[in-house]
Amino acid sequence: MNAKEIIKNFDELIPQADCELVFSNPFELLVAVILSAQCTDKRVNKITKDLFKIAKTPEEMKELKQEELEKIIFSCGLYKNKAKNIILASKDICERFNGKVPSKKSELVSLSGVGNKTANVVMAVAFGEDAFAVDTHVLRTANRLSLVKTSNPDICEKKLKEFFPKKNWSRLHYQMVLFGRYKCKAQNPDCNDCPFQNICTYFKSKNK
Ligand code: SF4
Repeated sequence: MNAKEIIKNFDELIPQADCELVFSNPFELLVAVILSAQCTDKRVNKITKDLFKIAKTPEEMKELKQEELEKIIFSCGLYKNKAKNIILASKDICERFNGKVPSKKSELVSLSGVGNKTANVVMAVAFGEDAFAVDTHVLRTANRLSLVKTSNPDICEKKLKEFFPKKNWSRLHYQMVLFGRYKCKAQNPDCNDCPFQNICTYFKSKNK
């Protein structure tokens, strides 16, 4: 199956591919993406609903005490690190970027707690840049579809960018996230009527 056919199948399967995190500006999105590591978007949305009532700008966020923020975000896991990183990133944004979330990748990854994946999501969703963020769902799906053979997200991102046209990167990222989250799940994927059966390593191994 070539890139064009894969894109067509994803468009048919998931015509509406949007970020499920709730946010109203780049800073809120950045915080939500940091919180989403090893946590569901649903839980993150619950947390940020309360959090953004207290602090919704980097200026307000950097003034929170770490313990205070930890209490609010406790249920999302890794809360100590996430609280520390959100406060440090907020200080950085205020001191180095004039209170505005930067849009360049090199600047985004210089913020505390912001890695390649988080930077890609913020670039694509907040700033409309072409980016291909690779999370656990994208990585699993790309491997099953034989697009890559790696457990390294950076290598996966590079290969996917080589394979698919640039204009499709951001949309495909969300399609693959949603596909991995709801159909091609890690355990017991729903393979019925899946258009990728003939290229899928998982399907082939299960149906030998
Ligand atoms: S056949 Fe099953 S495992 Fe393979 S891509 Fe489709 S849903 Fe995922």
